Amino acid sequence: MQHAKQCGEDETSEHIFFNCKAHIKNTQEIFNYTLIKCGHTTHTWNVKILNHLQIALIANLIAIIFEKIWHKRNKLIHDEIEIVIHRQQVIRELIKTQRAPWDRTQAVINKTLRIKSKQRPEEQNKLDSLISLKLLKFSRQWNSPLHAIALPKHLKKYNNSLSTLHK
Ligand SMILES: [Zn+2]
Repeated sequence: MQHAKQCGEDETSEHIFFNCKAHIKNTQEIFNYTLIKCGHTTHTWNVKILNHLQIALIANLIAIIFEKIWHKRNKLIHDEIEIVIHRQQVIRELIKTQRAPWDRTQAVINKTLRIKSKQRPEEQNKLDSLISLKLLKFSRQWNSPLHAIALPKHLKKYNNSLSTLHK
């Protein structure tokens, strides 16, 4: 077993990511601060957070923090440079992860709108429901008060219960 350079403890993966005193206080602070900004309840940073991966935004927050911890550890071992994990950097990266799923959601909706224009009214109603559902799904997985997507004008009428999609 290798001993961690930053603390002298046995370097299990659980130790590196969840217990190491080199970052745990900072990590806990960043995690809770961001969860609150996202409108979620706070959690203790330990292995149990892996039970909170159902919401894409939270799963991505955890993945970004993991990556930062690993990078910090490697910088110290290989370059002997001590890095501080910055809250604003984590939040910036988290906001960036929203972009691709939102682009995909818009692409699907725009395709549905093109199909819709060629259908009879009854079929059009079904496609309207589908568009509303797509928006709802995106909102649940990705939207939060941290960074709410501004809904384009032509989609506003499909936004039945998605107040969080508006800025
Ligand atoms: Zn340690």
